Amino acid sequence: MYAHPFTYHRAQSLGEATKLLHQLGEESRVIAGGQSLIPLMKMRLARPTALIDINFIPRLSEIKDHNSEVRFGALARHADIEMSEHIAGIPILHDCASGIADVQVRNQGTIGGSLAEADPSGDWAATLLTLETSLVCAGPQGERLVQMDDFFKDAYTTVLGREELVREVVVTKPAKNSGGAYLAFKRSACVYATGSAAVQITLDAKDTCKDVRIVLGCVGLTAIRAKQAEAELRTKKIDERTIARAADAAREAAEPQNDMRGSADYKRALVAALVKRAIGIAVRRARGEHVEAGHEYVGR
Ligand SMILES: Cc1cc2nc3c(=O)[nH]c(=O)nc-3n(C[C@H](O)[C@H](O)[C@H](O)COP(=O)(O)OP(=O)(O)OC[C@H]3O[C@@H](n4cnc5c(N)ncnc54)[C@H](O)[C@@H]3O)c2cc1C
Repeated sequence: MYAHPFTYHRAQSLGEATKLLHQLGEESRVIAGGQSLIPLMKMRLARPTALIDINFIPRLSEIKDHNSEVRFGALARHADIEMSEHIAGIPILHDCASGIADVQVRNQGTIGGSLAEADPSGDWAATLLTLETSLVCAGPQGERLVQMDDFFKDAYTTVLGREELVREVVVTKPAKNSGGAYLAFKRSACVYATGSAAVQITLDAKDTCKDVRIVLGCVGLTAIRAKQAEAELRTKKIDERTIARAADAAREAAEPQNDMRGSADYKRALVAALVKRAIGIAVRRARGEHVEAGHEYVGR
C-alpha cells in the first residue's frame, strides 16, 4: 500500500526542526531512519501530513568518548554503534546493537528514533536502563536532561513534548569490575524478540555483588526493571542458588501477553532462562573474561 500523501521538509538544525513541527501542525512528524515510521505509513497506521527530515543536521550522528561518558547523537545508527570503538568497555551495548533486526535495518535505524518510538519490543530500552543513561532533549524552550528511568510513560509513549526531539543519549561508563550482557530470543532476524533480558553487575573485591540492574524486554508495555531479582543478588555471593532465585523473581516481574510470539507462560519461562544466562555472562565479563553474547534465534 502507498503512504497517505505528505509534504517533505529538510531541517538544517534542531532549532529549525522544532520550528517546523510547530508551523506544520499536529500531524507533522520528524523522520530519522524511517525504519518504524515508513512501515507504519505504508500500512496507513500512521498518516502524517508532513515529514521533517533530520538526517541533514550536522553532527547529530556522532558518537563521542567524553571522559566518564559515551555520548551518542540521536542519529547514531544501530550499525554505527555496533562498530564503534567507544563502546569497547561496555559490551552490553554491542550485544544489543549487533542483533537488532537485519543489516539493512541496522544501517538505517537510529538510537534516537528507537527510544522516541518506545516500542515495547524494542531492544534499546532494556539495555540502556541497566546503565546510568540520560537523554538530552531539545524543544522550543531549550534543552532539558531526562533520566532514562523517567523517559518512558507507556507503550509508544514517552515524556517528549510534541515539538521536542531527542538530541543525544548519554551513557556513563560502568564502574571498574562491572560487566553486562543483553540476551534477546527471536524467531528470525527481521522480527522483534519474543523476550529479552539485560543485566549489568558490579562485583566488589571479594567477588560478591556490589550492585546490579536487571531489566526485562518484550514482556510488558514498557521494559520492566526486575527490582526483586536485583535484591536477590545485591550484596550476596553470586552462585547457582542466588542466580536461581533472581531468575524466579524475574519470572514473577514479567507481565507478558499471549500473542503470535508465544503464550504468556512460555514468555515468563523464557525471560527467567535469559536472566539466568545473562547473569552468568555479566559476571564473567565483570571478572575480565571476553564472552560473546547477544541475540539468539530459534533452532540455533
Ligand atoms: C523489519 C524490521 C525489524 C525490526 N526489528 C527490530 C528489533 O528487533 N529490535 C528493535 O529494537 N528495533 C527493531 N526495528 C525498529 C528499528 O530499530 C528502528 O530503527 C527504530 O525503531 C526507529 O528508529 P528510526 O531511526 O528508524 O526512527 P523513525 O522510523 O524515523 O521514527 C520513529 C519515530 O520516532 C520519531 N523520532 C525519530 N527520531 C527522533 C528524535 N531524534 N527525537 C524525537 N523523535 C524522533 C519519529 O517522528 C517517529 O515517530 C525493526 C524495524 C524493521 C523495519
